[in-house]
Amino acid sequence: MKVIFHPRFYEVYTSDPAAAPGRMEPMVKALEKEFEFVEPGPASDRDLERVHGKNHIQSVKRDPQVYEVGLLAAGGAILAAEMAFEGQPAFGLIRPPGHHASPHSCWGFCYFNNIAIAIKKLVSEGKIKAALILDFDLHYGDGTSNTFNDFSSVSYFHPEGTGREGFLEETKRSLKTDKPYDLVGISAGFDRHEEDWGGLLKTEDYFTIGKWAKEASIARCQGRRFGVLEGGYNHSVLGRNVRSFLQGLSD
Ligand SMILES: [Zn+2]
Repeated sequence: MKVIFHPRFYEVYTSDPAAAPGRMEPMVKALEKEFEFVEPGPASDRDLERVHGKNHIQSVKRDPQVYEVGLLAAGGAILAAEMAFEGQPAFGLIRPPGHHASPHSCWGFCYFNNIAIAIKKLVSEGKIKAALILDFDLHYGDGTSNTFNDFSSVSYFHPEGTGREGFLEETKRSLKTDKPYDLVGISAGFDRHEEDWGGLLKTEDYFTIGKWAKEASIARCQGRRFGVLEGGYNHSVLGRNVRSFLQGLSD
């Protein structure tokens, strides 16, 4: 399991909670001894244009820092997906997050839809035909869902369930979909944790979800799997939550 990270993700590129100072450091600290880190390059305009309209890209460009860090985040997701395709599971420890970025608009601390850009690239290059996206963030990834609305070979799942057990049950079920998939991409938001905004999941649940995603990918698509960071705002628990998830997801 490789972790994709760029030092520019430490930058406080704006004033929202995803860009908050001190958010990435505890995750890096929790992962750097156990996992090898790899630095991504920026996504290209062409990569962005597979998902976003030119006007949207132009509007993000007006803030050069957000644009530059955003390109690296999208590039990080692309690298994670490419490594996964080659048989090496990977996690994009990236920000800004992406799942609220639609083709022509964005909100919720997101600018470019990292996971959608990565998956569309693999599809357009003919590497994969179908993909499953599991989004366990507290919030519905409207941007991801909008991107793949007319794209039936990419299935987007955002489990809700009732209570902790119901949520986990629905997560497990989504991985057992009848629809075929060649790759599993995970929008990993940790804001549903019991000490974060959602107040629901325990740290060990992220291990369980990671393990289920690993098992499903081995059974269904030669183990091809990657994740990218979305939300998660309590800096004091983010490190152990992301580590727990990666321990479950890795071989
Ligand atoms: Zn969220």
